[in-house]
Parts: sequence; C-alpha cells; structure tokens
Amino acid sequence: MLEINKFNKIITANWKLNGTFEFIETYFKNIHSKVSIEANVCGIICPPSIYIQNCSSIISPLYLGAQDCSKYESGPYTGEVSATMLKDNNCNFCIVGHSERREIFKIKDKDVNKKSEILINKGIIPIVCIGETLEEKNAGLTKNILKKQVINSLPTNASINSVIIAYEPIWSIGTGMTPTYEEISNIHLFIKKDIQNYENYKILYGGSVKSNNAKDIMNLENVDGVLVGGSSLDSLEFVKILNS
Ligand code: PEP
Repeated sequence: MLEINKFNKIITANWKLNGTFEFIETYFKNIHSKVSIEANVCGIICPPSIYIQNCSSIISPLYLGAQDCSKYESGPYTGEVSATMLKDNNCNFCIVGHSERREIFKIKDKDVNKKSEILINKGIIPIVCIGETLEEKNAGLTKNILKKQVINSLPTNASINSVIIAYEPIWSIGTGMTPTYEEISNIHLFIKKDIQNYENYKILYGGSVKSNNAKDIMNLENVDGVLVGGSSLDSLEFVKILNS
C-alpha cells in the first residue's frame, strides 16, 4: 500500500463517464510536459475502469485510481470490477461512495464499508466520499449526516495509512457553488476531532474546485487536498491545480 503520510497534499481527478483514446493521449502529453510536481504532492487520476490499463503505463509522476469497485470479490456479478482486478492494473486508490453512486445507483453506507474493507485488504486506498444535500444543510443537519456516514462507511480495518476521506457537499458538486472557506475548514475540523479519533486522517475537499480556488482551499487548515470533477477534464486546468 502506498504510504500516504509522506504527502502533504493529495489532488485527485475524477473523470467520471468521460474520455476516449484521443482524450487520454492529449491529456497525458500536457501532464508530462507541463506538470512540475513536488515530492510531497500526490496527484491521482481516476479514469473510467475500461481505460485504467491504458493510463497505467503513462501515469507517472501521478498515481492511478478507480472510480468505484465491486463489494464482491469474484463470481456471478455481471458488469462488476473487483478490487483484485484494480490491483492487477496498478491502481493505488479507489473512490467509493461518491454521491453520484449513492444517489443514482443507491449505494448505501454498508456497501461503502464493504468495498473499502476489500480494497484495504488488497492494498488499495479507498477515498471514501461523504457529504450532505442542500436540504440537510439548510435544516442544520450537516454534522449529524457526516457523522453517520463516517461511522457507518469506514470499515474496521481503516487506519490513517489505509483510508482517505473526501468531504463533498452534494450541493456543491458540479454547481459552481462552494461552502465558505471557513465552513470547509470547520467541517474538516469536526470530522478530524469531534466524531472519533480521526485527527490524523487525510481529508480532501471536493465540490466545484477550479484552478482559481484550489490553492486557497488546499491551504486551509485541516484540508489535506482536493477531489476535482469537472475541472479535471481540462488537462491544462488540472495541470494548474497540480502545480498550485
Ligand atoms: C466530484 O464529482 O467529485 C466533484 C467534486 O465534481 P466537481 O468538481 O465537478 O464539482
């Protein structure tokens, strides 16, 4: 398993359901010619699973992640991709419990927990996503929701070295709206200090991160990096975030 504690910043690109061979070729040309990444920065690309192998040979100096994995290890589960398969294809990371998987594909905390447990056992670091809806935020329920998600989604084999948490307010994903910097920092502090002993866990912020706010967000207290969706599809924009 990759030692995540050696990194000060973790910057993750989630391509979602986007990409072609041509896109990948151009993308990595820009990454290789324009990224000057420091040793304490961990840049991760999460392409659609069908393209993981194509990215694997050209991923350096970044790392490879998947967008999801099966909660089953093998067997009659048509369409699924297992943690072992991801490991065979050099994935060091895997996003689990993204709000799109929770909302559209009805993934529950207990599924996130099982997926994370299997990933850790295979030496892959799950990036466990949590976040509240706008209705929950407006009802003052953010902390209750996050606490429940963290406690139920993190498996018993989770540790500071084996899991990354990503706080992604659902209302901020793809909308251009973000919490205030103070709110982000406070929520990360809440996750680190007030739920259980998660003080030394890496916690990323995700939701409408762009090159013009990435540096400020990454410099906030209690923020260990960012998870970037839409803006990571523009390689030049993602290069700026990696270099910031
Ligand atoms: C995401 O989907 O994880 C995400 C953060 O998306 P965006 O950056 O587009 O808000």
